[in-house]
Order: sequence, then structure tokens, then C-alpha cells
Amino acid sequence: MSSETEKKINLLDLDREGLASFFKKIGEKPYRVTQIMKWIYHRSIVDFDQMTDISKKTRDHLKTIATMDMPQVEKEQLSRDGTRKWLLRMDDNAVVEMVFIPTDDRGTLCVSTQVGCKLGCAFCATARLGFQRNLSAAEIISQVWLARACLEKTDNVNVGITNVVLMGMGEPLLNFQNTIAATNLMMDDLAFKLSKRRVTISTSGIVPEIYRLKEHTDVSLAVSLHAPDNQIRNKIMPVNKQYPIEELIPACKNYIAGSTHRTITWEYVLIAGINDSPEHAKKLIKLIKGVPSKINLIPFNSFHGCGMKEPTAKTVDRFAEVIYKSGLTVTVRKSRGDDIDAACGQLAAKND
Ligand code: SAH
Ligand code: SF4
Repeated sequence: MSSETEKKINLLDLDREGLASFFKKIGEKPYRVTQIMKWIYHRSIVDFDQMTDISKKTRDHLKTIATMDMPQVEKEQLSRDGTRKWLLRMDDNAVVEMVFIPTDDRGTLCVSTQVGCKLGCAFCATARLGFQRNLSAAEIISQVWLARACLEKTDNVNVGITNVVLMGMGEPLLNFQNTIAATNLMMDDLAFKLSKRRVTISTSGIVPEIYRLKEHTDVSLAVSLHAPDNQIRNKIMPVNKQYPIEELIPACKNYIAGSTHRTITWEYVLIAGINDSPEHAKKLIKLIKGVPSKINLIPFNSFHGCGMKEPTAKTVDRFAEVIYKSGLTVTVRKSRGDDIDAACGQLAAKND
């Protein structure tokens, strides 16, 4: 194969460790890692010619073997509540969405890890797409890079990206390696410098991968529980048949074991008439007893073609109150960006 047709390596696919082995392999000094990361992630430069502290000879060599390719930002939508959603197109034409949710003191970017999802949760619009493919690490970390670049170009943005949640399209733990490389970059001082408390992987509960996760990282973990027993969870989350609650809870406990201040955030989508009664709340409390926990209630967001119903505000309050009175920390996620289909579970990358 000629060097022209050989596939070039995308440097955005590599975290610090990956870059170190890449530069070693091509006979470059270790300090190239620091140089290149600072250009890409601190100065937002992805053009070798502008990397002026790297010799022309090295730059020319890099150009023949490496790229820093990113998806295209195809569309940006702004919600009346300030939430922004971007549609990104990959080089094979696949599309994914990412969402930026600002509040007074925090800016949360919600990124995708797969095109579609194979897990088929009954309440999720992404599930309807089926699974198309994993995103590369470059395609995941590019979302943070691109969102920051878009926000910097925009007036009236009073808070940048302070938090990243892997809660967009797809199941992060079924795209394990790429998710780890991308989250490493989010937390790396030479890249996005976010603390581990501010980077959250959300999983539907892939038990073996939760054990494996602990060996590789210490990002924050949110777990989509959504039901207080297997019977209900089986109905709305088919993945529960493979990894039932009695296996999931010990895996989560293990993830935070050995640290005094870490917690699991349990996500719980409240769906009218399915899992939203005070009895369900009491059962939920019993279930997670002994695990340092926060509970994040998410009122179900409806979407076209989904037969399930949104809970009333009263039902949500009643459920939250039962949990609050038990002494657990509970938050209710406010629906944001629903006028542009950017709310939880509404991401389906409709390119219209
Ligand atoms: N696959 C991962 C991460 C993406 S889903 C997971 O399931 O955790 C991110 C969150 O949005 C999950 O908690 C998911 O259950 C929730 N969600 C999905 N569809 C929703 C809907 N229609 N309304 C509210 N939340 C939803
Ligand atoms: Fe996949 Fe998460 Fe949607 Fe379930 S909720 S289908 S795991 S993206």
C-alpha cells in the first residue's frame, strides 16, 4: 500500500497515553504529546501548519500519517429556555445530536456515544433508531471541542462547559474503549481539565462493564434504574433480563467501594401509571439501602409514536417527597429544550 492509501491515524482518537505510544512509534520525543495536546485542546488549533513550536519537518511528516478530522456541525437549534442542540454529521453520513444545557452557574454538555442504541428501552426515542454503529473516540471528544467552539462564537453565553454527561444517544459501556479514551481527555489537564466529579457516564446497567470500568477510570457514574423491581424493569428495559437488579446493585456498590465521598446517581424516569406511585418510591428506597446514593427523578418526556404518558406535576412531587423524607438526596430534572426535541430521551437525530 502506498502512504497515500494507508489509513491515516486520527490524533483525536488518542488520549495522552495513546499519543505517547504514537509519538514513540514514529521516533518522536515524548514532549510532542504536551505540544500537540495544548494546540488541539487549549488553543483549539487543528491545523498542523499553525503549530509553530513543532519543526516544519515534523509537521510535514505528521501531515502524511495523521489527521485531526472532526464531524461537521450541520445544524444548531436554540430553545426558548437557552438550551442548544447541534446535529453532527460524520464522514459516513451518520448523524448524532449533542445538547448544551445552561443554568446560572453551570453549563452541562450532553454527548452521544453511539449512533442509535440496541437496548430497546420502551420509553426512549433513540431506541427506535436501532443500533447503527459506535462513535470513535475522536467523534466523542470532538463533541466537546465543537460545542466549546460554537459557544465561544456566540454572544450572550454567560457560562461555558462546566460538566459533561454521557447521556445523549447510545450506551457508553457498550462502546467501552472509545468512551474511556474520550473521558480521559475530558479530565486531562492538557485537554478539557474537568474534574472527575464533573464527567458522568450514564449506563442502563451493563453489569460486567461496570466492574471493568472501575479498573480503568473513576468518572462519576449514573445508573438508569427506572423501576423498583425486576417485573417492572423487565417491561420497560429489556436489558434487565440479562442483568437483573440483584446483579446490578452489587456492581454499582463495587464501583464506589473504597472511597468515602463517592455516590451512585440513580436515574429514575417517572412514567404515568407504570412506576410512579408512592409504593414504588418506598420500594425503591429499600432497594438501594446501604448504597451511598443520589436519586435523580426524570419526568418522562413523550415523543411521537410512544404510547406512554407523562406524569402530572403532583405525582412527581409526591414521589419526590417520599424519597426526601427517607433522608436520601433527591433532585427532579427539569425538562429543558423540549421545544426543539432536546429533552432527555427525545434525541433521535431527525435530519429534517
Ligand atoms: N444509554 C444510557 C445513556 C443514554 S440515555 C442510559 O440509558 O443510561 C440518558 C438518560 O435519559 C437515561 O437515564 C434514560 O433512561 C433517559 N431517558 C431516555 N428516554 C427518556 C424519556 N423519553 N424521557 C425522559 N428520560 C429519558
Ligand atoms: Fe439505549 Fe439509554 Fe435509550 Fe435505553 S435509554 S435505549 S440504553 S440510549
